[in-house]
Amino acid sequence: MLKTVTRRLGALFFALALSACAASSTTSTRTRETRPTGEAMAVAANPHAVEAALEILREGGSAVDAAIAAELVLGLVEPQSSGIGGGGFLLFYDGQSERLTGYDGREWAPAAASPTQFLDARGRPMPFLDAQASGRAVGVPLLIPMLKLAHEDHGRLPWARLFEPAIRLAENGFEVSPRLSRLIAAAGDRGRLRADFVTRAYFFDREGAPLPVGAVLRNAAYATTLRAIAAQGPSAMTQGPIADSIVAAARRNPRGGSLTLQDLQTAQPRRVEPVCGAYRVYRACTMPAPSSGNATLAILGLYERARPNPGGAQNADDWAAFLWASRLAYADRDHYMADDQFVPTPTQELIAPDYLTSRAALIDLSRAPTQVSAGQPAGPELYERWGRDAGDDNGTTHISIIDAWGNAVAMTATVESAFGAQRMASGFLLNNQLTDFAFDPMLNGRPVANALAPLKRPRSSMSPMIVLDRDDELELVIGSPGGSSIIGYVARTTIGILDWNLSPQDAINLANITARNSPANAEPARLPPGIGEELTRRGWEFRDTSAIEDSGIHAIRVTPNGFVGGADPRREGIVGRIAPAVEARVAR
Ligand code: GLU
Repeated sequence: MLKTVTRRLGALFFALALSACAASSTTSTRTRETRPTGEAMAVAANPHAVEAALEILREGGSAVDAAIAAELVLGLVEPQSSGIGGGGFLLFYDGQSERLTGYDGREWAPAAASPTQFLDARGRPMPFLDAQASGRAVGVPLLIPMLKLAHEDHGRLPWARLFEPAIRLAENGFEVSPRLSRLIAAAGDRGRLRADFVTRAYFFDREGAPLPVGAVLRNAAYATTLRAIAAQGPSAMTQGPIADSIVAAARRNPRGGSLTLQDLQTAQPRRVEPVCGAYRVYRACTMPAPSSGNATLAILGLYERARPNPGGAQNADDWAAFLWASRLAYADRDHYMADDQFVPTPTQELIAPDYLTSRAALIDLSRAPTQVSAGQPAGPELYERWGRDAGDDNGTTHISIIDAWGNAVAMTATVESAFGAQRMASGFLLNNQLTDFAFDPMLNGRPVANALAPLKRPRSSMSPMIVLDRDDELELVIGSPGGSSIIGYVARTTIGILDWNLSPQDAINLANITARNSPANAEPARLPPGIGEELTRRGWEFRDTSAIEDSGIHAIRVTPNGFVGGADPRREGIVGRIAPAVEARVAR
């Protein structure tokens, strides 16, 4: 579908380019260079980040360039969610070749990390808050190396240029948003963000009160760090003063970790083949292990089998099918998925058409399941369940971008929990990604697939997704934060857009309803009338999680009339659009 749009726009550029050239001939002291550009769109969790993306797109930057600029800003204005002290996954669609590439920037465990480091002296899992706000939870941050890799492949503007919006904002200051203020207060109340002297000085005033909405926050240390990375690239984070500060912060007591400079130099991001599944006429693609994003594809595949002719958002059978599909896919995901470099992981087997058909045979729309177990895909031996309910958290963000050439980026980035490890180094927060491992490496006498091991990557739920049409042209760019609920959020919204014909915004606004276990999490007030009652009548049990639902679903659909975006009202994101036009650039 995109090609049609691009072709149509091509004629428009030509006409506009001619008029712009004519205008330029009157300017004698400057050389005017016109560059035709098409429509572009960026959706991210904060208006400053969207502005940065648009600034870069207007200047002729690619979707990757814009994503980098936006993410560096998010690390400043939405530090609770993501940043250069964390990791992420980036999925790139090349509008020219129609090929997808995945970039894996998931954190690695340090070489001296121990499988039992989250157990107490008596061998029991330590309290989650202790593990989270600790140096032991810090994995090697790979966001910057991942972004650099993607930039080497698909960047158009110089690397250093992409740092300018964030440096500007860090030096001039930005107003603390309502969400940031609220989360600082919450993290302060739990005692951890205030416990570390650096985070206390940054996020609280002199009296120790959390920064209020509208307080102007500057971060000179972050600006200095960004200048160094802009000039030197990722090596600025693996040797020298920034690297030293990362290691020192991670090793600091209480609960210091084992991270070393050697770890920072060993861990590397990877280019990966995305995992794709058929969904009706589409091909939906996301990240492979250590992401468990294949569960998103499993939900779509199971839902399609249960609802060959979907009835829409008002139809209780459609919701029942989605809930069943979720239960079945989550059971498999919880059981099997982990770092595929360390354990056999049936990434493709779990979405194989025959396997999905056999799983879908369990679905009975007239009733809720009593118990759902993992299935038996082809392939590796069974591993024991992961065993920890990650719940939902605030420490992740999602960016969706399409550039003027029809390239797209779906990137989900994270520091894991809100404010990550709640320790700062050189102006940014360190991640607590290692708490995404199982705390106990054994369960019922059997090894746990997602147990911690040196150099291993913790399982993730992040599922940046790109959906292509039958001609491999771009249809949908989507993703969300939300811990393990990401899988349900992305699947439900995709169904809403592609099957229920909702606009991205309407689909995002619709109820989150995540059936990982029973009772399912739900936002009853956002459900169409009568649906909740009917599902309850069929035996589904719900927990009203409206007050804590924390999705940040950001989507762009390609339509014959242009790009249509949606930003999640549960967070602070917006949709930014550049209309098809010619921009005259002045070269001196
Ligand atoms: N660390 C989680 C993951 O990678 C994401 C946490 C969140 O979304 O808040 O799956």
